Amino acid sequence: MGSGRFWDEPIETGPIPDSETNFDCIVVGGGPGGASAASYLAMDGKKVLLIEKRVWPRDKVCGDAVGGKSLGHVKALGVKATLESTPHFRVTGIVFSSPNGSDVTVPLPEEDVAKMEAGYSLPRQQFDWLLFDKATELVLENGGAVIQGAMVTKVFDDDGKITGVEIGIGGKMGEKRVYTAPWTIGAAGYRCPVARKIVKDLAQEELVDRMHYCDGYREYWSNVKGCEGDAGNIEIHFVDTVVPGYFWLFPIGGGRVNVGIGMVMGLLDKQEKKLKALQADVIANHPSFKDRFADAELIAGTGKGWQLPFGSPRKGEKNQPRRAYAPGALLVGDSASLVDPFSGEGVGNALVSGEMAARHVIQNKGGSEYQDELWAALGPELTNSFKMQKMSRRKWLLNWFVGKASKKPVIQEMMTEMIASKEAQENLHSKWFLVKTLLF
Ligand SMILES: Cc1cc2nc3c(=O)[nH]c(=O)nc-3n(C[C@H](O)[C@H](O)[C@H](O)COP(=O)(O)OP(=O)(O)OC[C@H]3O[C@@H](n4cnc5c(N)ncnc54)[C@H](O)[C@@H]3O)c2cc1C
Repeated sequence: MGSGRFWDEPIETGPIPDSETNFDCIVVGGGPGGASAASYLAMDGKKVLLIEKRVWPRDKVCGDAVGGKSLGHVKALGVKATLESTPHFRVTGIVFSSPNGSDVTVPLPEEDVAKMEAGYSLPRQQFDWLLFDKATELVLENGGAVIQGAMVTKVFDDDGKITGVEIGIGGKMGEKRVYTAPWTIGAAGYRCPVARKIVKDLAQEELVDRMHYCDGYREYWSNVKGCEGDAGNIEIHFVDTVVPGYFWLFPIGGGRVNVGIGMVMGLLDKQEKKLKALQADVIANHPSFKDRFADAELIAGTGKGWQLPFGSPRKGEKNQPRRAYAPGALLVGDSASLVDPFSGEGVGNALVSGEMAARHVIQNKGGSEYQDELWAALGPELTNSFKMQKMSRRKWLLNWFVGKASKKPVIQEMMTEMIASKEAQENLHSKWFLVKTLLF
C-alpha cells in the first residue's frame, strides 16, 4: 500500500484465470458480503474465485453508517486498525426528529464504542476498498483468484444444482470465460444473478416484493451547519413531507455529509414526487433544514439512487425472509434480502451472513441449514425492525413518541440500550416492556 489516500488507488488483483478452471467456491460480488465470505473461506485454506463487476476504486450508494455489528467482523478480517487510521466520523449519538419538528438525541456512550457496540460513518468507497483489498490478499495467498471488471452473465445448474458461472470481461458483451465449483456464493447485491437464478428461475418464487424493497437516494454535501468535525451525531428525520420514509444526515468527517432519503417502494409508488425531488424540497424549504443548508454545497456528481432489499418477514413464506439457498449455492447480504427494514442498515448483516455462508461451505452443510441459522440469528431483530417501520409510517405516533422521548430521560436510555445492546433488543419482544416504558 502506498501512502496518502490509498483507497483512491487501484487494487492489483492479478491475471484472470483460464476458462474451465475449477475452484472450491466461487463468490459473485465483492462488496462487504462477498469480501467477507471470500476472506473467511480463504482463511480456511479454500481455493476461492472472487468476481467483481466494477473496478476499484469504486463508489457504492449507501448512507455510509457502519454499525456496531460490523466491527467484530472488521476486526476478525484484519482491517479494523487500518480503518481506524483512515479518516472517519465516530458516531456518538443519534438524533431522531418527528413530523411536528420535536427531536430527541440518543447518546451512544464512549464505552460502547470501545466494546465495539457503536460505530462509524465513512464513505463506502473507502470501507469497501479496505475489505476487498484484504480479501484479495487472503484469496491470492491461498491459491485462489480475484477478478475485477468482469460481470457474471450466466449461472449454470445441473438438474437444479448450481455448478458454476460464465463471466463477460469488461461487461455483458465482453470475452466470455467459464468457471466451475461445488459451491457458489451469491453476493452481488440487489441485482445478484445467483439470486435471480435460484429464487426466480429454479424455485419460481417472488424475487422483488415492492412492500419489502426500499428505494434510496443519496448525495454528498459540504458545509452543512451542525455537521462539522469528526465525531458527533448522525441524524434521522421523520420529516412531514417524507413520512412514510425518512431523511438522513450522516456526517462522514472532514466537513462532508451523506444526505439521503429512503422509502418502501410499494409506498413510494403512491407518492407524486420521486425521492430526488422530495429531498431537494426538504433542503430548500423545510424550516428545520433550509438554514442549515444555506451555505452548503452539493458535491457534483454524487446524487445517485439504489435499492435496499429489506429483511422484513414475508407473509406465508417458508424460507424467511426469502429463499437464500439451492443445492450448491448460498446467498448473502443484499442478495439474500437482509437489510434492516427500520434503519436501512445492511452492511452488518452482509458481513454476518458472509461469515455464516463461508462456514457452511467449509463444513459442506446443506443449504436449508444455512437458511435456518440465518433466520434464527437475524429473524428476531428483523421482525422487530419491521414492526418499528410500520409504526413509523404513522405521523401521530412519531410525534407522540419523539415528544415523550424528548422529555423523559428513561426513554432516551431505553433507546440507547436498544441500539447498543443485544439484551435490550430482546426486551422489545415484550409488549409489556414497551407499554411500561412509554406510558409510565
Ligand atoms: C441509499 C442507501 C443507503 C444505505 N445506507 C446504509 C447505511 O447507512 N448503513 C448500512 O449498513 N447499510 C446501508 N445501506 C445498505 C447497504 O448499502 C447494503 O446492505 C450493503 O451494501 C450490502 O452489501 P452486499 O455486499 O450484500 O452488496 P453490495 O454492497 O451491493 O455489493 C455487491 C457487489 O457485487 C457487484 N456485482 C453486482 N452485479 C454483479 C455481477 N453480475 N457480477 C459480479 N459482480 C457483481 C457490485 O458491483 C458490488 O460491488 C444503504 C443502501 C442504500 C441503497
